[in-house]
Amino acid sequence: MKYCDLHIHSCASDGTFTPTEIVERAHNFGLSGIALTDHDTVDGVEEALEAARAKGIDLAPALEISTHYLDGRMHILGYYIDIDNAALGDLLKKQVDARVYRVVETCKVITEMGYPCTYDDIARIANGGALGRPHIADFLINAGLVSNIFEAFSRYLAAGKPAYIPKWAPSPQEAIDTIKGAGGLAIAAHPGVTEGMMVKLPELLQWGIDGLEVYYPRHSQRDQQTLVEFANDNDLIMTGGSDCHGFRRGDPLLGIFKIRYEFMTKLRERWEATVRASS
Ligand code: AMP
Ligand code: ZN
Ligand code: FE
Ligand code: FE
Repeated sequence: MKYCDLHIHSCASDGTFTPTEIVERAHNFGLSGIALTDHDTVDGVEEALEAARAKGIDLAPALEISTHYLDGRMHILGYYIDIDNAALGDLLKKQVDARVYRVVETCKVITEMGYPCTYDDIARIANGGALGRPHIADFLINAGLVSNIFEAFSRYLAAGKPAYIPKWAPSPQEAIDTIKGAGGLAIAAHPGVTEGMMVKLPELLQWGIDGLEVYYPRHSQRDQQTLVEFANDNDLIMTGGSDCHGFRRGDPLLGIFKIRYEFMTKLRERWEATVRASS
């Protein structure tokens, strides 16, 4: 049986593995295909493509876009996007600015709490990756304020907690349009773990979503079944992946959580049949 993993983060965002290390690990675990899905950046894609070519692994260029909807948030995955697309580049630039702003403001709060913290401290931790709260969590761990990333979020960084700063993000519709405009397929990420997302499936359909991430480590059997049925009823593609962040949240899931490679084949076929055919 051949396997793939269509949801992986590298150090280009908030994972701890380089794109090359991801490809090597995928190869060592016998995966046939992977997708690099960093948060709001495609900076790791070229390195990953090169490493994948060398190892004979099928690699889908991809990303995971953070969006805002009413008072909620959603992540939208984009597969087989043209990483040089100008409109996608514009959107990602706005996300970079929003991430910088959030870090600057969060540092002020942490400093007020008695732990002097600067933008440079966080940027050093991110080491060129798209700045995210996991990097701020690392600072809080290093400062001895919390013992792990989960405590950092539950006590300080999650929505409504003392060091939470809201961040601008595009609407799901804008993210979907941008992904499709860049020649990609838009997939709703982990609907079973994002609060309120399961009831928004009909809206996602209206916005032009191409598929759903059905297989995900923290999806309940019940949500998974609902997602399979919704996808089948509406001719949506189904994907799945580990959401591996390297060692950032405990042991890496890459190679452990995997889905049949057939899902990647179907994803690619849908892309070839729709997007590529119309360009
Ligand atoms: P940001 O991009 O700054 O909004 O950070 C979002 C990222 O933080 C997610 O993709 C996860 O990697 C991580 N994250 C969010 N919530 C938690 C949590 N409760 N515990 C650990 N990591 C989290
Ligand atoms: Zn993340
Ligand atoms: Fe996500
Ligand atoms: Fe993710």
